[in-house]
Amino acid sequence: MKALILALRELQEVDRQRIEAERERRSITERVEQIQQMAAELQRELADKHEKLKEAERWYHERERELKEDNEKIKRAQARLNQLTKAKEYAAVQREIEFLRRSNAQKEEEILKLLTVMDEFKAAVAEEEKKLDEMHRELEAERAATALRVQELDERLARLESDHREFERDIPGPVLSRYRRIQQAWQGTAVVPVNSRGSCGGCHRQIPPQMYNILLKQNSLESCPYCNRFVFVDVTEQDNAANG
Ligand SMILES: [Zn+2]
Repeated sequence: MKALILALRELQEVDRQRIEAERERRSITERVEQIQQMAAELQRELADKHEKLKEAERWYHERERELKEDNEKIKRAQARLNQLTKAKEYAAVQREIEFLRRSNAQKEEEILKLLTVMDEFKAAVAEEEKKLDEMHRELEAERAATALRVQELDERLARLESDHREFERDIPGPVLSRYRRIQQAWQGTAVVPVNSRGSCGGCHRQIPPQMYNILLKQNSLESCPYCNRFVFVDVTEQDNAANG
């Protein structure tokens, strides 16, 4: 029975290492996925901003073209003005020129405002592009490091699996399936020590004194009446004293 408890404890140690390795594998893989998602999100936002910038540029060229056309109109009107002799016609063309000048001044102001906004926007986009580049570099480094670590962990997991099979051989089927059930129910801890004050190392409740005495003898496989985990009393020190 002592050997069986020992085998169960060894099996549990293998499971503990397996759970730890699996957790690390999951967490580093998820981290890479997170950075990847963040980079993709930033890339989408940047594409959106580039589209807006293009739109603004189109608007800018349109206004500039209108401005040019209106300036031509003013030139033509001025040429006409020199040929006019009737005061009424002269005044009408002069009003037209005045109107065009005012509207051109307004357009110029709008264009200047837009150029300022576009410059600021371009600077912000350039800044974000730099950030995206950094993120891509970080992603590549993280991906490479993670791939290496995942390989190590996979090798470790394979070793643990073969260790597991080896320890399983020493454990009778029904005990093994009970171990598995408890191990899964308690997320890894299925075999726990009872301390010298008689409390269960899993649920920390007090084990009945008669059970504690049975555990000291190490002749049977017992479980905690409250949490059902396999329990044992660590008598290594007493063993050492006896052997020495
Ligand atoms: Zn317990």
